[in-house]
Amino acid sequence: MPRITMATWQCISNCGACCNLQPEDRPELDQYLTPEQLQQYLSMVGEDGWCVNFEADSRRCKIYRDRPQFCRVQPDTFQAMYGIQADELNDFAIDCCHEQIESIYGEESDEMEQFGNAIGFEHGVEIMFELTDEMNPETESAKLKGDRSKDELG
Ligand code: SF4
Ligand code: SF4
Repeated sequence: MPRITMATWQCISNCGACCNLQPEDRPELDQYLTPEQLQQYLSMVGEDGWCVNFEADSRRCKIYRDRPQFCRVQPDTFQAMYGIQADELNDFAIDCCHEQIESIYGEESDEMEQFGNAIGFEHGVEIMFELTDEMNPETESAKLKGDRSKDELG
């Protein structure tokens, strides 16, 4: 089915919402991470729930070039983790970012507004995601780890 939105995913600066790794907020971790990846993930969770590699002040990843595979928004990673095909990655990543930003900063946050502006949706993020959720209800529970391929942030 063709998509209604023309939005194009990108990671925004000054966000880092997906670097909040609280395991209790991600009960399906063992369903999309290998045992080795799960061990690595859990080793990265700080006392406050944020990744120990996340620089809070700058909202940047301190190990960006060496970040784990599961932190990378790229076709092979999402195929392996979620069974998402390359042509589905854009919409899936948008859904994931929206969910993560809403969870951490809120629907009305500056971060959500910046994300909506960055991905190029002209009529409002909330409306767009009502459409995408309706068309892809299976993506509702997906979680996204950070990728900084656009601006090398977080
Ligand atoms: S990938 Fe992570 S840091 Fe980038 S916009 Fe999405 S939630 Fe924010
Ligand atoms: S992108 Fe970096 S800071 Fe964010 S979860 Fe991955 S390793 Fe941690």
